[in-house]
Amino acid sequence: MNTIEGLKQQAIRIKRQMKETQNELAALQERQTCIQQCIARLGAGELLSTSDLELIDERDIGRTSPIVLRMKYRGRLAVLSRDIEERTGEVTRLLQAFDELSRCPVCGGTGWTAERTSYERQERLIVAKPGLQRCSTCNGTGRIEL
Ligand SMILES: [Zn+2]
Repeated sequence: MNTIEGLKQQAIRIKRQMKETQNELAALQERQTCIQQCIARLGAGELLSTSDLELIDERDIGRTSPIVLRMKYRGRLAVLSRDIEERTGEVTRLLQAFDELSRCPVCGGTGWTAERTSYERQERLIVAKPGLQRCSTCNGTGRIEL
């Protein structure tokens, strides 16, 4: 499916996927920050409270073994960091795919197409005039319009 319309559909799909992955990534990063704050509070000798409920196990509220809890949440943080790394890689891959798919296949992204070179006589010289034309497929943008 290499028609302009086909490329367009694929590019739109990739763009949507990219947006979803970026949102997931943002949510994971927010969670990471919260868990880091929990760990810091445990480190300062504070107890976890109900406001941490979304992130932690209910049974950890008010527990007074900060060392064990810190280990537990550091473990979670490590898993989260791997997820973040994975999603970041995915975003990069999707960005590259989008870049390739949205590049105009007619001009290869340059915005210009070569026409036949014309020759002009100027006094004793014959001057070659390379015929560059603004690409009519992408209107010179080098990108297919989505
Ligand atoms: Zn073009």
